[in-house]
Amino acid sequence: MSNLQQEIQALKKSRNAVILAHTYQPSEVQDIADYVGDSYGLSVEANRTGADLIVFCGVQFMAETASILNPARKVILAEPDAGCPMADMIEADELRKLKSQYPDHLVMCYVNSTAEIKAESDVCCTSSNAVKIAGKLPEERGIIFVPDKHLGSFVQEKTGRKMVFWDGFCPIHQKINPDMINRARTDYPDAVLLIHPEAPAECRKLCDHVLSTGEMCSFVKTSDHNQYVIATEKGLLHTLKKQNPEKQFIALSDNLICPNMKKGSLLSVKKALEGSGGEVISVPADIAQRASFSLKNMLEMSR
Ligand code: SF4
Repeated sequence: MSNLQQEIQALKKSRNAVILAHTYQPSEVQDIADYVGDSYGLSVEANRTGADLIVFCGVQFMAETASILNPARKVILAEPDAGCPMADMIEADELRKLKSQYPDHLVMCYVNSTAEIKAESDVCCTSSNAVKIAGKLPEERGIIFVPDKHLGSFVQEKTGRKMVFWDGFCPIHQKINPDMINRARTDYPDAVLLIHPEAPAECRKLCDHVLSTGEMCSFVKTSDHNQYVIATEKGLLHTLKKQNPEKQFIALSDNLICPNMKKGSLLSVKKALEGSGGEVISVPADIAQRASFSLKNMLEMSR
C-alpha cells in the first residue's frame, strides 16, 4: 500500500468516514473506496451508511443524492468541478413548462439530474430500475421522462407506456454508433456484447444484452461466457476485471471516457477527508425535501 493510500485509510478511520465511488471512477479511486457501484447501488449505500462523513467520488448529482438521503450527514464531493453534462441539459423552468403541457402525466426523472429536477418529479429512477418503476406507475397516466431520451426510449420499448421525452443524452454514450458494434462483432465473433441503455436505440438493438453497469457486473459473474465486449464508459472494465480475473473484457471503444468522472484522484480523496479540498454539498432545504420524496419513492418502488 502506498503512503497516500495509508494516509487515506488513517484519515477515514479518524473521521468515521465512508468513501463511495462510481464504477466510472479511475481505478486507483475504485481501489480505495468502501463501496463501488452504479447510481442505484450508491443511492442505497448512501441511504444506509452510519458514517459521519460521506466522501463521494463521482459527479455532482450523485453527491447531491447522497446528501438529500442523508440530511444529517456531511457529504463532500471529492472533485468539486465534476459535473454531468446530461444532468445540466434540463432546467427546472423547462420541466415546469413541460408539466403544464401534459398535466395528466407523471414525471419520472433519471437520477442523473439536478436536485431541482428531482424536486419537480414524482419518482426518480436509475438505469437498473427504470423499467420496473415505470411498470408500477398507474397505467392510465402518461409519463414525462427526463433528461435522457435514450433511457426513456428503452423504458418505452420494454413497457409500452405512453411517454414524452426530453431531448437529453449522455455525450459519452451518444458517441456509440452501429459501425463500432458491427466492427466488434467481426473482431470478436465469440464475445457477448453488453450495452448500456443510455446508448442510442439503433446500437442497443445490435447488442446481446442491454444492462445498467450494476446489471453488467451481476450478469458477467453468473455467465459461462469467457469474452465480453463492453459498450459503456471504460472505467467499468476495471471493476469487471477485478471481479472476474479469469474472463476477458474488451472496451467497445477507447474513446468512451467521461472526463468528469476521470477528474477523481487519490489526492482529491485525501484532501476531502482532511477538510482541505472537495465541496461540502448543501442542497437548499425546500428543494431537498421535495427531491427526497421522488428519491424515496424510487427506493420504495424498486424493492
Ligand atoms: S458518463 Fe455520461 S451520464 Fe455519466 S456522468 Fe459522464 S456525462 Fe454524465
